[in-house]
Amino acid sequence: EMFGQLTSGLESAWNKLKGEEVLTKENIVEPMRDIRRALLEADVSLPVVRRFVQTVSEQAVGVGVIRGVRPDQQLVKIVSDELVKLMGGEVSELTFAKSGPTVILLAGLQGVGKTTVSAKLALYLKKQGKSCMLIAGDVYRPAAIDQLAILGKQVDVPVYAVGTEVKPAEIARQGLQEAKKKNVDVVIMDTAGRLQIDKTMMDELKDVKRTLNPTEVLLVVDAMTGQEAAALVTTFNLEIGITGAILTKLDGDSRGGAALSVKEVSGKPIKLVGRGERMEDLEPFYPDRMAGRILGMGDVLSFVEKAQEVMKQEDAEDLQKKIMSAKFDFNDFLKQTRAVARMGSMSRVLGMIPGMGKVTPAQIREAEKSLQIMEAMIEVMTPEEREQPELLAESPARRKRIAQESGKTEQQVSQLVAQLFQMRVRMKNLMGAMEGGSVPGLGN
Ligand code: GDP
Repeated sequence: EMFGQLTSGLESAWNKLKGEEVLTKENIVEPMRDIRRALLEADVSLPVVRRFVQTVSEQAVGVGVIRGVRPDQQLVKIVSDELVKLMGGEVSELTFAKSGPTVILLAGLQGVGKTTVSAKLALYLKKQGKSCMLIAGDVYRPAAIDQLAILGKQVDVPVYAVGTEVKPAEIARQGLQEAKKKNVDVVIMDTAGRLQIDKTMMDELKDVKRTLNPTEVLLVVDAMTGQEAAALVTTFNLEIGITGAILTKLDGDSRGGAALSVKEVSGKPIKLVGRGERMEDLEPFYPDRMAGRILGMGDVLSFVEKAQEVMKQEDAEDLQKKIMSAKFDFNDFLKQTRAVARMGSMSRVLGMIPGMGKVTPAQIREAEKSLQIMEAMIEVMTPEEREQPELLAESPARRKRIAQESGKTEQQVSQLVAQLFQMRVRMKNLMGAMEGGSVPGLGN
């Protein structure tokens, strides 16, 4: 079973959380160690594993409890989300030329499945209604040209071949000319692979690339090579510039390292994956489905997602009620600021606000710091003080105590209290305006 070992390695992480009530800094230590080990055994590169484990740990400790969801299920969800992100998030589609033929140049080492992929890709695109042509450019392996001719026949796509005596760049030029004459939509060029990277191969590829001016340059890599695949993608990208990778032999005994490392290490997405020897066995690379396969816990994931949805809705309704009745208190204040923090770094949030494009890193740090200061002060409040901010407004002694316990100044505490009341007023005004049918500042 593909990723079988990785899946069972991760399972032992979830098992260590059985019986726990919440995720804490302490109780995630052991599970995180399992996750780290499982990823390393799957041949994910060490820096990637480090970053992954750190991100997941941070999120796990900060995550709020969701009613009815166990901590191990929450951790599964966090790991799943991060795996998807690690693999590039969204599926990365092929790009097509606006006019003239789309040219796809395939590169890769020998034996990775490049020739097979050429024909598979032609069939894949043909099924999308595009006419294709293959160019046989592997001049060092005469059998490769025959092989492509046979596969081309099999998928019913013309193959342009001129033997092994002509330089690849010249074959490319002629092939492209032919394709333009025939008005084909997509040209796919197979190139020579070597057992390992050498300068002649790179130079040849550069020549071919210059001649073709391709829309896509895809490096074909073998999933069985694990993190080595990611290193190859990086090297080829630096040397010739590529647009993405095709990962082959995912049906085999692949441990997962390649699928998990390529994007993170090279910055280039995996666009397609080969999952078998048949011509039909080529498909887009879906990070979310891949994560699902690795975890093998589709039902847990959808359960946690639903629970999150429900909670978000209840929270929103709750908050709205509070605002309407001017009961907005420090608990809500904290919830809000934490929600913002959870959405990612402040920088991302600020970046999403129109007109805030030019926020400087210093301003971002400032904003993050002031969030931390607020949290520190709210954390030392008693439950009554949080629920009834009036207590603080009326009592300098309470404010003084909070200042002392949080290590902030009395002035900072007063500011926080003032801010909360300002927020109440502003929200009340906004609600009133909305009920009256006009929202100030929203252009109606
Ligand atoms: P090239 O040297 O890169 O052109 O590699 P080939 O296209 O000749 O493929 C090498 C071998 O890998 C052949 O036996 C293919 O059938 C096999 N192969 C290619 N892609 C896949 C795949 O996705 N899954 C499996 N199981 N085998 C594959």
